[in-house]
Amino acid sequence: MTTLLQSFIGGRWIGAQPAQALRSAINGETVAHTHAEALDFGEAVDYARRVGLPGLLALDFQQRAARLKALAKYLGERKEELYAISAHTGATRVDGWIDIEGGSGTLFSYANVGAGELPSGNLIHEGPALNLGKKGLFGGTHILVPRGGLAVHINAFNFPIWGLLEKFAPSFLAGMPCIGKPATATSYLTEAMVRIVNESGILPAGALQLVIGSTGDLLDRLDGRDVVTFTGSADTAAKLRVHPNVVRHSIPFNAEADSLNCAILAPEVTPDDEEFDLFVKEVAREMTVKAGQKCTAIRRAIVPRQHLDAVAERIAARLAKVVVGDPSVEGVKMGALASHAQQADVAERVALLRQDAEVVYGGGAGFAPVGEGTANGAFFQPTLLLARNPLANSAVHDVEAFGPVSTLMPYDGVEEALQLAARGQGSLVCSLVTKSPETAATMVPALAALHGRVHVLDRESAPESTGHGSPLPVLKHGGPGRAGGGEELGGLRAVTHLLQRAAVQGSPTMLTAVTREYVRGGKVTETGVHPFRRHFEEIQIGESLLTASRVIRDEDVHAFGHLTGDMFYMHFDDEAAKASPFGQRIAHGYLVLSDAAGLFVVAEPGPVLANYGLDTLRFVKPVAIGDSIQVRLTCKRKIDRNKKDANGNGQGVVAWDVEVKNQHGELVASYDILTLVAKKG
Ligand code: NDP
Repeated sequence: MTTLLQSFIGGRWIGAQPAQALRSAINGETVAHTHAEALDFGEAVDYARRVGLPGLLALDFQQRAARLKALAKYLGERKEELYAISAHTGATRVDGWIDIEGGSGTLFSYANVGAGELPSGNLIHEGPALNLGKKGLFGGTHILVPRGGLAVHINAFNFPIWGLLEKFAPSFLAGMPCIGKPATATSYLTEAMVRIVNESGILPAGALQLVIGSTGDLLDRLDGRDVVTFTGSADTAAKLRVHPNVVRHSIPFNAEADSLNCAILAPEVTPDDEEFDLFVKEVAREMTVKAGQKCTAIRRAIVPRQHLDAVAERIAARLAKVVVGDPSVEGVKMGALASHAQQADVAERVALLRQDAEVVYGGGAGFAPVGEGTANGAFFQPTLLLARNPLANSAVHDVEAFGPVSTLMPYDGVEEALQLAARGQGSLVCSLVTKSPETAATMVPALAALHGRVHVLDRESAPESTGHGSPLPVLKHGGPGRAGGGEELGGLRAVTHLLQRAAVQGSPTMLTAVTREYVRGGKVTETGVHPFRRHFEEIQIGESLLTASRVIRDEDVHAFGHLTGDMFYMHFDDEAAKASPFGQRIAHGYLVLSDAAGLFVVAEPGPVLANYGLDTLRFVKPVAIGDSIQVRLTCKRKIDRNKKDANGNGQGVVAWDVEVKNQHGELVASYDILTLVAKKG
């Protein structure tokens, strides 16, 4: 590994003179030095704007998603290099997995979000368009576009790889070049990852720059096109949020700060229930994974008063089995804190907590981690505290010991449990361990007001639960109040947060042109060739076909009913149908749908390879026996996922707007059809 760390700015590695020594969390030996050279943040910002941005926007959402996928694979191939370095941060193999493979897994997940949910091009139409005039000549809709700026991501020390990648992935998809600033203490691992990313050659130049050390005047150089995201302490978040330049330019600032997450054992759970053990396991696991240095870890375990002793005993018994020490030693389950500064910080905070809480397990006396040289490492013994009067005690709800430390607290009644949860003043996550759906239905809405994520654990979900402490790429991460008030991750949401939303007004024809999505009422084109005879590249948005019309006959209704078994009275019973809101027998909606397909489908083999679904189907008006229907089929949207079939032939997705009207020109059915269409080449 490089012992002299370098920043990656303006397309080159900077740093030749050592500055701060960074020590191994395992044995205290120096593993790297930061560099002494001051960085020119003007150059970093200029490079992001001048080189990074055009390079990113030369690609579209789909192409960037493909790059993310390639990068995820590449990092996977070189993961062992990262595991080797990760050991210096005090991480066990499992801890490293969360950081390293959790990081590449997050890239994969966003690659899938991009490929599956984002359009071609660099504009998202957040429809449907609304009609704002009486004659359908003026409408409005929303679009999301790249902000045209860069993203500064400031990260915490606990996840040097995942921390940057989980922020990078959505910003890269959103078309923003990134400047990553890892926490100095573990920046040697982030630096190694950025070197690998750079060596991959997968990202356009300027897509990812790296700052080792201080951010200097970087935030002063940003403007309203940019965003800042932050993970770390609530104090630093509070400071950076009101940075004068951030405030002046209304620069979006997303914070994910420390929080005193809780787990609640529901009142109906008894020590004989599986849920009781699930609670005990979850608390013990959250205390020891990553040595408790997870922003989501359970800091407060809230249990029914009558079970306090039983819970304390069982958690203590589990903790006693956790071997702490050098993760390279066989049998070690918990490693060190990330740095000696953290070790001192956690000790200080535990001392504060102990003023009002007793020690159930741990506390440090006589603690000796296993492994050579570990006496000089940044280890901390798992420590379980007990606050007997938590409503009167504020330290247990305020002081976060960012290590293997949790406090038990008793409650009497659901209201009191919720009151205690609320004392955290907003957290990232809460677990409710219950066997009662009624308890879940009562408590979760109240907990949801205070938490970014609520994890309900019972014997049914346990075999597949991803656990209290794992933020998932597809679900929101971030909580209200003390947790920073931010939102990260959440699948597509994370990407749309980073785009600029604008309302657009105009005629349907203009809205179609802008959104690249056909808006009803807009001008259509008829080429004289059936659109299903044309290849993907040839089909134009707004290209349309008006079919012949067809009468829905009584014998069709009977035949359809007998074929499908759908003998609903509305289609067959004159008397009963007369008494219905429609006053007469009507055709099956699915018959109308099937007849519509019969009107526009082309029988012969052609470029349309498959019909793979319908969206937004509505039966708008009933179709009476003897009515006729006619269909307008219009190309609504095209998505090029750069996919090929088994023979290597290219194909794309075409969504068709389908309007089925009756003989009076009234809309009776409306939907989108999704087709796979072959490319010409
Ligand atoms: P900090 O808030 O001090 O640091 C977080 C990040 O912000 C680091 O990259 C740090 O860089 C950077 N930073 C600090 N000050 C500034 C500034 N003025 N301008 C720009 N960047 C700045 O947190 P720590 O890492 O010191 O951890 C302290 C506590 O934060 C922990 O004990 C824990 O309670 C909490 N924490 C919460 C986490 C979470 O995920 N919510 C994660 C980690 C910690 P540098 O390292 O160079 O100072």
